[in-house]
Amino acid sequence: MAEAEAHGIVIVGGGICGLATALALHRKGIPSLVLEKSRSLRADGAGIGVHANGWRALEQLGVAAELRETAQLITVYHDVWQQGDKTSREKVPVRMELRCLNRKDLIEALAKDIPAGAIRFGCRVAAVAADPGGGHGAVLTMADGTAMKAKVKLACNRWSYIQYHIYIYPLPEIELFQVLIGCEGTYSAVARYLGLSPVRTIPRPVLRGFTWYPHGHSFDTEFLRLRVGGFFIGRLTITDNLVHFFVTMPKQPTADVIKDLKRVRDHALKDLQDVECPGEIIEIVRGSDPESLNLVTEFWYRPPWEVVLGSFQRGAVTVAGDAMHAMGPFIGQGGSAGLEDAVVLARSLARAAVDDSDNAREKKVVGEAIGEYVRERRPRLALLSLESFVMGALLVRSPSPVTKLVCVAVLILLGSKSLRHANYDCGRL
Ligand SMILES: Cc1cc2nc3c(=O)[nH]c(=O)nc-3n(C[C@H](O)[C@H](O)[C@H](O)COP(=O)(O)OP(=O)(O)OC[C@H]3O[C@@H](n4cnc5c(N)ncnc54)[C@H](O)[C@@H]3O)c2cc1C
Repeated sequence: MAEAEAHGIVIVGGGICGLATALALHRKGIPSLVLEKSRSLRADGAGIGVHANGWRALEQLGVAAELRETAQLITVYHDVWQQGDKTSREKVPVRMELRCLNRKDLIEALAKDIPAGAIRFGCRVAAVAADPGGGHGAVLTMADGTAMKAKVKLACNRWSYIQYHIYIYPLPEIELFQVLIGCEGTYSAVARYLGLSPVRTIPRPVLRGFTWYPHGHSFDTEFLRLRVGGFFIGRLTITDNLVHFFVTMPKQPTADVIKDLKRVRDHALKDLQDVECPGEIIEIVRGSDPESLNLVTEFWYRPPWEVVLGSFQRGAVTVAGDAMHAMGPFIGQGGSAGLEDAVVLARSLARAAVDDSDNAREKKVVGEAIGEYVRERRPRLALLSLESFVMGALLVRSPSPVTKLVCVAVLILLGSKSLRHANYDCGRL
């Protein structure tokens, strides 16, 4: 009988978090297989702001230096609020590292050192379920009908540890894995398998894109945040020639407009003119590269109480990135939190592997290593989710004065103004 292929670690989803996890594991000498539904690396979404905590994680992954070459430092937050004839402005220096990366650069930097063949493209996981055969693990069913199965066997040794063993499953067509990590974003089949609720959504259209200035732009190295007539607009410089912008619109474009991003841009431009948005911003949007345009119609988030109480582990199955803690864009930390997850998870799994081979008495099995990862990440993610949730409530939900007061108090306690969350260090890989 032909032998089934056995994988140690399978990662579902090759976005920022899935690739970072595969790279982190690779740096620790642990092979993995990434299953990505797209036919090639996905890098939509134009730019992504990365704060100091994200850069620390990228340093551990060994890609920070090359990425710093692609994006300049953002030195100032520039908040502008235009209400009728009145415009208020505030400039605050950015005290910790903040750069806006082209997502494509980030994805490519994470992917390039992952060994060839370790990312399987065009592979969509359709379902994850408990093994109907009564095993102790999960079965992945792909959209093409093929399956992959955890082959785990429970055994107690004299220290009563539970050990997992990969062994050759007698059905040759089914591939095997030992550990399953769901990094497939907000609609995660792995998260469902763990018993997590679906993520919540807030309908809110955001158009994002890049504008290229062949002869250089004249903008300061700032994160401009402009509120005007129900719009929330952001502009971040990436290089002397490249600018990232986002336009959060007060109402959804119609279904036929949404199908064509150039029409969405025209629609946004018309509405921006109607609310007397500064011409400088209108020109950035008008001059954007059509290929770079990206539209998100809703924000996804997992409420903070679910992050505190949710089950992030079932045996050797866990989640990371948005699959674990989708938090919307309100504090710009979703991507960086996913990078932190990758470092912590690989570190925990590597400890288990090292102990396994070196010293039986100190052995930590995979399930324990994942438990360690979940325990380390939960408090950090709970605070980030809370901060993002409260910020979102202030920005998009028009809260009552009392709720507003509570929100402001929570943000003060969390050190939101000084970006305490960005000063986090997830530690060494
Ligand atoms: C408007 C907006 C602005 C944001 N700005 C920032 C910011 O400035 N800074 C920041 O840090 N974060 C930001 N975020 C959040 C950030 O984009 C996400 O947190 C981050 O992309 C999550 O990465 P991920 O790898 O967990 O998931 P994803 O990026 O969603 O990647 C999931 C991957 O899994 C694949 N996949 C999905 N389903 C399957 C399946 N069934 N089988 C196989 N593959 C599958 C997808 O194709 C994709 O490649 C923003 C989000 C939004 C919406």
